Amino acid sequence: GMLERVRVAETRLDAATREAAELRTKLEEARDNARRDPLTDLPNRRAFEEAFAAQSASGELICVAICDVDHFKSVNDRFGHAVGDRVLKAIAEALTQSCQGHLVARYGGEEFAILFTGISRGAARATLDHARSIVAAKRYRLRDSDEPLGAITISGGVTLARTGEDYATVYQRADALLYDAKSAGRNLIRYDK
Ligand code: GH3
Ligand code: MG
Ligand code: MG
Repeated sequence: GMLERVRVAETRLDAATREAAELRTKLEEARDNARRDPLTDLPNRRAFEEAFAAQSASGELICVAICDVDHFKSVNDRFGHAVGDRVLKAIAEALTQSCQGHLVARYGGEEFAILFTGISRGAARATLDHARSIVAAKRYRLRDSDEPLGAITISGGVTLARTGEDYATVYQRADALLYDAKSAGRNLIRYDK
């Protein structure tokens, strides 16, 4: 009868509503995963570039830093890729700790990027150089044998984004400063004066 048909329709509607909610959750997870690096759990390059765009539109003071692990290939070559992965995780944690309040992202393989907001370029430079010294001072060891890995260092370039400057320009300047730090001997932060 009529009542029966209404009940069936209601049950179907309930199921459809539940399904829509599940899909929404999955979509949100997918959106988050697209912006997160699974190894370090840091935001990825895409998240970083979106954050730059958002902050730049807000008119806040922004500095961009690009950091790269020094001679990282040799860590993989000597100790294996799994150890290299653990080193990247340790560096990710050290940078996150040292740059609290700012966005630390895994930008690519062994590159990290930091979006400093609301602080001067002098403060950004000092924060980044402190992070560099923390990474350099850590005593990295193999889990099983306790064998020391030797010094692990990072180099970086940090630059102030001028009002309205596009991302590519700011990134290229930070990357050129990183390149200068590498040429000057590594375990260094370079910044624009
Ligand atoms: P430089 O000081 O000039 O930066 O030397 P480098 O050895 O760090 O630079 P190079 O670009 O020659 O090597 C980067 C290495 O990083 C090579 C690549 O296999 C390694 N790498 C990139 N991503 C990962 C990762 O996710 N895990 C591991 N274990 N290694 C990675
Ligand atoms: Mg590199
Ligand atoms: Mg490197």
